[in-house]
Amino acid sequence: MSEMNPFKIAQAQLDEAASILGLDEGTHQTLRRPMRELWVNLPVRMDDGNVKSFQGFRVQYNDARGPTKGGIRFHPDETVDTVRALAAWMTWKTAVVDIPLGGGKGGIICDPKSMSQGELERLSRQYIRQVGRIVGLEKDCPAPDVYTTPQIMAWMMDEYYWQKGHNEFGMITGKPIPLGGSQGRGDATARGGVYTVREACARLGIDASSTSYAIQGFGNAGQFAATLHREILGGGKLVAVSDSRGGVYSADGLDPDAIVKHKLDSGSVAGFPGTTEISNEKLLELDVDVLYPAALENVITGDNASAIQAKISCELANGPTTPEADRILHDKGVFVIPDFLANAGGVTVSYFEMVQDSYNYFWDAETVYERLNQKMTKAFNDVFEMRERYESKNIHMRTAAYLVSVQRVAEAMKLRGWT
Ligand code: NAD
Repeated sequence: MSEMNPFKIAQAQLDEAASILGLDEGTHQTLRRPMRELWVNLPVRMDDGNVKSFQGFRVQYNDARGPTKGGIRFHPDETVDTVRALAAWMTWKTAVVDIPLGGGKGGIICDPKSMSQGELERLSRQYIRQVGRIVGLEKDCPAPDVYTTPQIMAWMMDEYYWQKGHNEFGMITGKPIPLGGSQGRGDATARGGVYTVREACARLGIDASSTSYAIQGFGNAGQFAATLHREILGGGKLVAVSDSRGGVYSADGLDPDAIVKHKLDSGSVAGFPGTTEISNEKLLELDVDVLYPAALENVITGDNASAIQAKISCELANGPTTPEADRILHDKGVFVIPDFLANAGGVTVSYFEMVQDSYNYFWDAETVYERLNQKMTKAFNDVFEMRERYESKNIHMRTAAYLVSVQRVAEAMKLRGWT
């Protein structure tokens, strides 16, 4: 299944939820495909004077609950089916945290690492010249994603301004703070994930303040998880972290602030003093209370799932666990907080950014944290209670999260008279 087309995986996950919920055929079939998508051709003048034509997409998967929302990816291997799958998952993610938005995604087939800043700016502006007609605060709101940055968001927002003749900061999120960005966006994904871990500990009878934890992947999400775990849970012992260059372990615990500094100074966690080396594979199998997969997809598979010893796996990364592994983890009692719930803090604060932009009045960081906390706490508990409701079917948290989301989107479609 993990080798399959990602859109087929997304459809299979929906099919399972539809069957458990007993969705009618019309609703189910409407949810199996995007509401609309735009394919665009983007001619861009390169630094050598030649014009290169890039292919781009914008998929608006479902907007029954509100304007679609989702990132724009710049990637050489981008495909429309990847964008469709990610747009479907955004639909479930916005629904599980109950923000009034739908799901969308965009992508451009390009290799940003081989492009100059000038070429990236011209490509970003050209994308908005093409998709500007279908995006906007009330239609579809993009955001940064793989290889797209706050600077790219600023160029896109500016291009939209030239098209429309007025500023509309809320047409895109993840912008720099001086251009309508939100406080608290940087650490929102990790923060939201740690809030769900706190709730999981409460439900499972684990003392959150004395949890041991390990983090695979030490980028934006992983680094903030290292420090926020202790800050939010009031304690905890970080025993291992890793990145693409290797991992480090200490049974006595690592100082989260010092390891973040080491990573920023040296570019890797490898070689952090007073630690032993650990491979990325072994890190996943450590006997810890909380494991944060925060790097890549498909790292917990049918091959290693039975070796996972963590009590809780909080999926900050998208898609770290294959469907086969999900079942194994569930059967051996590993409690998985599924990706589109665990990492929904990012889109939630993006939604707060849209709200602040639309009334042109900005909140301080404490207000953002408090509102994020409320959203994540409720989302976790809605999913946990759904799991209990379907206990007789022995479902795991990922299926429960699908049930919550699909039910909400289906209800919105029915109320609107679509189905
Ligand atoms: P990032 O690029 O900042 O960091 C990725 C980290 O993973 C880097 O430290 C990299 O060295 C490490 N890595 C790469 N290959 C690895 C390997 N084989 N083993 C271990 N580590 C490896 O990315 P990020 O923004 O932190 O995102 C991480 C994951 O979280 C992705 O799956 C992303 O889709 C997901 N996510 C992030 C956000 C967000 O707001 N940042 C929101 C939702 C989901």
